[in-house]
Amino acid sequence: MRLAVLCALLVLPAAELHAQQARLAIAPERPLPGALVTLTVTGVGAPTDSVVAITGTMAGEPLHFFASRGVHRAIGAVPVDSANTVTARVIVERSSGRSDTLEASVTPPPLPPPAERLAVAERFGRPLDSATAARVAREGELALGVGRRSHDSPRRWTAPFLRPRASAISSRFGTGRTFNGQVTSRHLGVDFRGAVGAPIRAANRGVVALVDTFFLGGRVVYLDHGGGLTTGYLHLSRALVEVGDTVARGQTIGLVGATGRVTGPHLHWTARYGALTVNPLDLLALSPPERSGD
Ligand SMILES: [Zn+2]
Repeated sequence: MRLAVLCALLVLPAAELHAQQARLAIAPERPLPGALVTLTVTGVGAPTDSVVAITGTMAGEPLHFFASRGVHRAIGAVPVDSANTVTARVIVERSSGRSDTLEASVTPPPLPPPAERLAVAERFGRPLDSATAARVAREGELALGVGRRSHDSPRRWTAPFLRPRASAISSRFGTGRTFNGQVTSRHLGVDFRGAVGAPIRAANRGVVALVDTFFLGGRVVYLDHGGGLTTGYLHLSRALVEVGDTVARGQTIGLVGATGRVTGPHLHWTARYGALTVNPLDLLALSPPERSGD
């Protein structure tokens, strides 16, 4: 008698779960260009036909899902130059061999037109000569390679991301700007105030993937946090880490400087998901995965 009651209790919820529809959602629903988003797969709980893998892509980047209390989450990104609809496609594979294909889309609004006018040293304020343009392109490829390779490493962080400096932000992500009235670009990072020599902290645990001196970025450090996420720290006076070092969240990795294309000393902080440049402040809103759910 007692056993029959128990069985009924066990069977009922399972039947309800079978009836649930697998669903993919993206938050926020209307992200800005260059935003990080969270993808959530729900309604896949079915004890008799469990999930063996969830794979997918968004804007050409692979997604890395992790499970936490029956919900499967992944981080994705909206390209900074995209005013079109961005679609994520996800495949849920089950132990029975059955698979569901889920889709969800977001349409970002366009970024505003150029608003900031900056004065920089003359060599930075005119179009680049071909040799310098080639150098800038080469250095851009190095940073891009760090972003791409991050998909090959497991996630290395378990605590929330933090700001690399406690100081005020002097320029936000996505601002359009002109240099000496000639060169137009978009600000694809966040600037923090700081005097030369002020400390810069690692935004989270990671491995030092690149330390170099770039034409535009000056002295640079790039960290690979794994699972597709990387951060960059530009215009340093000094780097205090070497390629291959594992750094702790909050560890001092370098000192503020005024190297590269700058109007004065500050930290320019960047972030990528895979190859896509994203607003680094969006990292601060990510909730860390629960270890037990992995
Ligand atoms: Zn900047």
